[in-house]
Amino acid sequence: MTGAPFAAVVRSRQERGISRATGACPVPCYHGLMRSPRLRFAPSPTGFLHVGGARTALFNWALARRLGGTFVLRIEDTDRQRSEQVYVDAILDAMRWLGLNWDEGPEVGGAHGPYFQMERLDSYRVAAEALLASGAAYRCVCPAREDADTTAPVACSCSVEAVPPGAGGALRFRTPADGHVTFRDLIHGAVSFPCADIEDFVLLKADGVPTYNFAAVVDDAAMAITHVVRGDDHLSNTPKQVLVYRALGHDLPDFAHIPMILGPDRKRLSKRHGAVSIQQFREDGYLPEALVNYLARLGWAHGDMELFGLDEMVAVFDLEGVGKAPAVFDYDKLAWAQASWLKRLAPDELVRRTVPLMAAAGLPVDLDDAVRLEGLVQTLVPRSATLPELVEQARFYFDVPLAWDEAAVAKVLIPGVEPVLGALRERLAVLSAWDHASLEEAFRGLAQDLGLKAGAVIQPARVALTGRTASPGMFEVAALLGRDLVLRRLDEALGRVSGAALPG
Ligand code: GLU
Repeated sequence: MTGAPFAAVVRSRQERGISRATGACPVPCYHGLMRSPRLRFAPSPTGFLHVGGARTALFNWALARRLGGTFVLRIEDTDRQRSEQVYVDAILDAMRWLGLNWDEGPEVGGAHGPYFQMERLDSYRVAAEALLASGAAYRCVCPAREDADTTAPVACSCSVEAVPPGAGGALRFRTPADGHVTFRDLIHGAVSFPCADIEDFVLLKADGVPTYNFAAVVDDAAMAITHVVRGDDHLSNTPKQVLVYRALGHDLPDFAHIPMILGPDRKRLSKRHGAVSIQQFREDGYLPEALVNYLARLGWAHGDMELFGLDEMVAVFDLEGVGKAPAVFDYDKLAWAQASWLKRLAPDELVRRTVPLMAAAGLPVDLDDAVRLEGLVQTLVPRSATLPELVEQARFYFDVPLAWDEAAVAKVLIPGVEPVLGALRERLAVLSAWDHASLEEAFRGLAQDLGLKAGAVIQPARVALTGRTASPGMFEVAALLGRDLVLRRLDEALGRVSGAALPG
């Protein structure tokens, strides 16, 4: 037996003066006053934000925005041993980077929130006192059970012999011995757990710090959360939370437990499978849009639509599109989303994001020449998987020493190309207009005059101008490089060719 039957120890709502009409709860809350959609993301700062958490945040954010509601960010930092400030900072950074803005919380330096549970200990104490007073909870001083949430029901005399006030100990919920806890989940349908499987779980530890199951309910109620959307690893916590909601006299929110994310081997996604933290993807050069897009499609679908920005998600997101089956993380699909978003970003936006990376790589970026910058990044988009890769490839567009691919030099810049490059240099030096069309005409005209295929002019020019055998289109490249740099590079290449021609 885990204690007296629930009905006997928990007095009715009316007896406790709780009326549904006014929603007067024993703890301060907005119930009855506002039922506009309010959703939250409630990470524990015990690690970096990983893809699973980010997807939960995204779904909550998108639903809040879709419904015209409020999105709350709450840091669940009650695990004092494992919570760290670096993780708080990393989570907030990752949320901002993904574009998942939150709406409220205590004001800090002109910005809002988030809420921190460790700053809300008073509300848990007030709620705990209400449960103690109603008999829904009891103080437990058994040393063997202290602070321990066990999976099996454990009986102890504290549940029947009242522990005197001031004796300390943990506060436990008095779980009914019989019956079921039943609730409706928007994804799983009706869910029911036998009370016999639920221990008298700890609400407040002896040091006054609440457990997750208690703090989450007190906060969700106080913050008038209408929809609790979270990973289905929490499904087994929900019956405990339902019991606490009811004991406190609160209406239940709508629950939606979204399926887990698995690795390609169908085991729970972890570091073994590759990058899993948002921070890591960011360092690896992924676009936030690509991650958001990929996370959106992880376990949610909207017809056969594949490309989603945050705005598009807000327009159509719903929980009906969330499947029941676990989602499998597919790094190739993420790469596809990344490639699609690199193409989808407006050229000026691409420039805005790459310029700091270019500057960091030591490239002399001329911010006044936006047209050139936009032009060059666009030529590189189809050839780059990430922004750092694009920047790496952009090197040859700048007046810095070329990173010569020596194998290409040895193969292409051979003595036979000297007259070709020499003649090309002569023509380009006097070309009247320096644009794609005139350059194309000059290259092709020269090939024709020399009785060569166009490639026989273009390929050595490509190695001369870019240091490599593969590059964006030669006329585009030459146009963007400008006459001065093109002529200097041709001179340098000619120097290399004649150097190679000199006897050993
Ligand atoms: N702090 C919990 C976690 O990070 C929150 C679960 C919930 O959303 O209720 O898993």
